[in-house]
Amino acid sequence: MTHPSHIRSWYSDSTPELPLQPTLEGAHQADVCILGAGLTGLSTAIELAEAGLSVIVLESKRVGWGASGRSGGQAIFGYGCDQGKITQALGLADSKRLFDWSIEGVEMIRQRCAKYAIDCDWRDIHAHVAIKPRHIVELKAWQRDLTENFDYPLQWWDREQLQEVMPNDRYLGALVDPRSGHLHPLKYTQGLANAARTLGVRIFEDSEVVKLERGPKPVFHTDKGTVSCDFAVLAGNAYVHGIAPELDRIIMPVGTYIGATAPLGEARAKDLIRNDMAVADVNWALDYFRLSADHRLLFGGRASYSTLPPPNLRGTLRQRMRRVFPQLSDIDMEYAWGGYVDISMNRAPHWGRLGNNVYYAQGFSGHGIAATGLAGRVMAEAIQGQAGRLDAFERLKHNPFPGGRLFRTPMLVAAMAWFKLRDALF
Ligand SMILES: Cc1cc2nc3c(=O)[nH]c(=O)nc-3n(C[C@H](O)[C@H](O)[C@H](O)COP(=O)(O)OP(=O)(O)OC[C@H]3O[C@@H](n4cnc5c(N)ncnc54)[C@H](O)[C@@H]3O)c2cc1C
Repeated sequence: MTHPSHIRSWYSDSTPELPLQPTLEGAHQADVCILGAGLTGLSTAIELAEAGLSVIVLESKRVGWGASGRSGGQAIFGYGCDQGKITQALGLADSKRLFDWSIEGVEMIRQRCAKYAIDCDWRDIHAHVAIKPRHIVELKAWQRDLTENFDYPLQWWDREQLQEVMPNDRYLGALVDPRSGHLHPLKYTQGLANAARTLGVRIFEDSEVVKLERGPKPVFHTDKGTVSCDFAVLAGNAYVHGIAPELDRIIMPVGTYIGATAPLGEARAKDLIRNDMAVADVNWALDYFRLSADHRLLFGGRASYSTLPPPNLRGTLRQRMRRVFPQLSDIDMEYAWGGYVDISMNRAPHWGRLGNNVYYAQGFSGHGIAATGLAGRVMAEAIQGQAGRLDAFERLKHNPFPGGRLFRTPMLVAAMAWFKLRDALF
């Protein structure tokens, strides 16, 4: 019998496989049952287990199989949308609270790595870089807003200062956050799973939820078993369909792609980014990159809303990477892979509850490494009767994508491409 495995990526090749967790069979009970063993589900599980609740996690494939084990690994404050949108929706005072909590999300990563001895190659510092003069204007306006309204001053590095750590003619300056950083996402997700298990959380892999029976005691069904619980948590992100259709309509799965070069050797890698920070530009179709612990360049970019991924994904990523780092013209992309992000229409987080015992967090909109930790904590608080923070997130209103699950992209052809994309890549 074959079991699901992670998609091939530099992450899966550089992380020892954890022993397969059992498949759910028969009838089980728990205080809380969670669908999805990504960062959201595992974070929720840890918070609840730390508080003494019994928790079961059901994962259709493997721990970290979804976005959490594939991401760019850039852990940044804030949410997928501009903070201004949150201010518009909630007012400045609540927007500031949500912003502060997002910083808590970044801090939680450091705390969890320390508390549970998770070695996930964490490195400090993140930079948003400017390519065009108008980006400088935008980034400086953002810096002002963060300082004046959110009490979060970032550093501005002009071109010369940036070149000292990243000798690259493409960039005109950078907005730098020493408190954000980057990590190996699959190692981190697996580290959270190990931590959860030491706290008594029961994780079942190869256990796809096919139905959630709602009621006073929700029941999750898989092909071979059931879990009855007091509280259900849906943390299936862009990969879950049909379990709570009212949630499916709010997000659209969008493919995004990353490549990893062949190892560059320490000296050559350090020449690219001397301080080992993570970098993202501020274009709509952004490039983002960082070094790996084994001295590769990990280079991400290219979202696919409506078209098939390029047939030659590796070649496309190599081309983009060489546009940024012409000095790597002799270097190949050894890996290329992709995954879905769960985009909400306004890119704001969609966290809340259905009735009084089904909780969910989705709509991370490509900005989930840190926010997922916070989402888990906020849902766990609400399950334990402290719903103040979840209430604040629930005040963010969301519109469904028009056209339902099949045709939520603007054109039929785009929707079809999505399915072809799924078949081709995942
Ligand atoms: C290529 C890529 C690059 C990214 N880069 C960044 C980045 O640099 N910085 C950043 O902040 N964010 C990034 N993100 C986004 C970030 O990875 C996600 O927001 C985050 O990992 C979401 O975590 P999650 O636990 O909610 O979802 P996931 O990790 O997707 O987990 C959901 C899990 O639910 C399981 N599941 C689904 N349906 C069922 C079912 N019916 N039964 C049981 N299990 C089910 C899936 O198998 C999956 O394992 C990136 C995402 C991708 C894909």
